[in-house]
Amino acid sequence: MRVTVLGSGTGIPAPDRCPTGFRVDVSGACWLLDLGSGTLRRLAESGGRPNDVTRILLTHLHPDHTADLVPFLFASRHGEGGRTAPLELVGPTGTDAWIHELLAAYGRWVAPRFPFSVRESLDGEFLLGGVRVTVRQMAHEAWSVGYRLESGGGALAFSGDTGEHAGVVELARGAAVFFAECSFPEGGGTATHLTPGSLARIAAAAGPGRVVITHVYPPVDPEAQAAAVRARWGGEVTAARDLEVFEVHPAGPVRP
Ligand SMILES: [Zn+2]
Repeated sequence: MRVTVLGSGTGIPAPDRCPTGFRVDVSGACWLLDLGSGTLRRLAESGGRPNDVTRILLTHLHPDHTADLVPFLFASRHGEGGRTAPLELVGPTGTDAWIHELLAAYGRWVAPRFPFSVRESLDGEFLLGGVRVTVRQMAHEAWSVGYRLESGGGALAFSGDTGEHAGVVELARGAAVFFAECSFPEGGGTATHLTPGSLARIAAAAGPGRVVITHVYPPVDPEAQAAAVRARWGGEVTAARDLEVFEVHPAGPVRP
């Protein structure tokens, strides 16, 4: 599995960080996991095209995780002669109603002319394209999830947005790389986001190979936030950068 960070930031505009998004190349397919504004351009910078994407997984429906779905659908309809390959959208309960409202708002400019399906899950495990996908509800909006992807003996975990929660520990347990939100500094946390202290407790309980933090709200420095997690947990912790690439093999994470 190969993960390219398309957006390491938040909904607050930053010059070097788009809101949340990841490209996951797995089992010969190209998936997206969240697509905040600007991440479609980052996909192009990573050498990908919307028509390469076979599946989109959404952690929740907030704009900083979904806004580029509209330009994605627009590009799928009008780019390169129009998409014909199927696309599956995976998201929490409410995704199907939400996407149909979005399609109604933009009408024929974005209406898919290709096989388009929606799979909703708030808690479950299933196989998608040979990848074992585990979904757990997170402590954010009522309809928010995190994902664990397992393929070839390696596992990746994505917290989405969440507060401290047993489900996050379950997703991250033994994962080669745990991509975790770390929105606020110590003392500034809420029940629906993580701080270095709460993330360190999750990491200590879950024992991932490494933690990569994302979604740090300005003006907090992501590097300082990563150092604060590292000081409490002691494992490998770094701050994600846009277009950073992570390769995961069965033996563990390898950075090219
Ligand atoms: Zn967010």
